[in-house]
Amino acid sequence: NDQAQWNAVDAYFTDLLARDDEALTAALADSTAAGLPEIAVAPNQGKLLHLLVAAQGARNVLEIGTLGGYSTIWLARALPADGRLVTLEYDPKHADVARGNLARAGFDKTVEMRVGPALDTLPLLEQEGAGPFDFVFIDADKVNNPHYVAWALKLSRPGTLIVVDNVVRGGKVATAHPDDPAVTGTREMFDLVAAEPRLDATALQTVGTKGYDGLLIARVVDPA
Ligand code: SAM
Repeated sequence: NDQAQWNAVDAYFTDLLARDDEALTAALADSTAAGLPEIAVAPNQGKLLHLLVAAQGARNVLEIGTLGGYSTIWLARALPADGRLVTLEYDPKHADVARGNLARAGFDKTVEMRVGPALDTLPLLEQEGAGPFDFVFIDADKVNNPHYVAWALKLSRPGTLIVVDNVVRGGKVATAHPDDPAVTGTREMFDLVAAEPRLDATALQTVGTKGYDGLLIARVVDPA
C-alpha cells in the first residue's frame, strides 16, 4: 500500500488526460463548502465514465447517487445535444448543491434530478416509461446494490452498460462479513449478476487517489 505513489501517478494521468475545468472544480469546491462528504469519483474515474457513455453512444443515462453532481457532469458531457440524464439522490441538501453545480455546468435542462430514496423513485421511472436507459451508473448506498442492479436491468435494453462503483470494500468483498451490510449487499449483487443470463460482466480492483477500490461493469445481453 503506497498511497503517496498512487496519488502521484493519478496526478500525472489526470493532469495530462482528465483535468477538471472551471465547472468541475467549482462543483467540488461548492460541495465541500456545503459540507458534503468528499466521496465523488476521482477526475480520471469521471473521465472513464465519460468515455464509456460516449463509446456506448448513449442518449439516455441513469445515475443512482448524485451527491454534488460531480460524476453527473462527467456523464452528461458525453451526451448528444438531445440526450437526457436522470439522477437519483436521497438527501435534499445534496440535491440542492448538485442543482447549482449542474446549472453552472450548463445541464439544468439535460439533467433531471429525482429526490428521495432511489427504491421509491425507480418504480416511478418505470411507471413513466423513462427507460430503456443506455447507460446506468450505480453509486449510492451499497447495501441496496442488488436492488439497484435489478432495477437497472428492468430499465435496460440489450446493449445497456451498467457500472457499479466501490465494489471492493477494502478487500472484504472476497469473504462473507455478516456484520457489514455494505459488504453483504455487494456480495448479493455479485451473486445476482453471476446468476443472471441477461448480464455479461467483469469486475476490476483499482488504486488511486481514492485508495484501494474497484468497479463492476455489466452489459445487458440477449440470454443465449
Ligand atoms: N456519484 C457521485 C459522484 O461521484 O460525484 C457520488 C455519490 S455518493 C458516493 C453517494 C450518494 O448516494 C450520496 O449523495 C447519498 O446521499 C446518496 N444516497 C444514499 N442512499 C441513497 C438512496 N437510498 N437513494 C438515493 N441516493 C442515496
